[in-house]
Amino acid sequence: MLIVFIGPPGAGKGTQSKRLLEYLHISPLSTGELLREAKASGSSLGKLAAQYMDQGRLVPDPLVLAIVGEKLREPQYATGVMFDGFPRTLQQARALDESLAQRGTPLDMALELRADDNELVTRMLRRSVAERRADDNPQTIAHRMEVYRQQTAPLLDYYRFKGILTPIDAMGTPDEVFERIKTAVGKRRSA
Ligand code: ADP
Repeated sequence: MLIVFIGPPGAGKGTQSKRLLEYLHISPLSTGELLREAKASGSSLGKLAAQYMDQGRLVPDPLVLAIVGEKLREPQYATGVMFDGFPRTLQQARALDESLAQRGTPLDMALELRADDNELVTRMLRRSVAERRADDNPQTIAHRMEVYRQQTAPLLDYYRFKGILTPIDAMGTPDEVFERIKTAVGKRRSA
């Protein structure tokens, strides 16, 4: 199965995608993590990416696409992928579809986690204390929400039009949300 996970910052994508990939036995491809690794390595690519990440801005598409393109060639992604935090722009979504079409493994689902804004901000502030992520301060959070609305939300229409968008209510406990995801995946598998 090839799945794209979409949701505003704080919606619980990290938690839920981790559970789902254990459940489906597929490998995760998280651009946020790949970019944080690049940043930590101190490579020139990582330094460039950090200039955007630290301000809550999107890393430019060509850079992200280069990282993903290279990663996708690894054998663990041959039959299944859980894309997390990618695509984030329409250009990324189109590029992904093209490279997956070439491999003959199109996307099966786009899972959209939905939660209201107040809940999202509360969750992220809690996480900033627990994990000390540099981009989880109130100002950057507000900016990331805005970026999501402007640049990533249009992807929802893109996937809806393709008939693979599956909205999931992300309010409630992680267990409740995961049950909803399992149900949706089960339906798609038997479709
Ligand atoms: P969150 O979803 O909580 O914002 P991520 O780990 O997915 O966290 O992303 C952290 C940061 O990494 C983003 O704010 C952005 O700067 C960068 N990033 C991650 N994925 C992408 C992507 N697909 N395109 C552009 N920038 C990205």
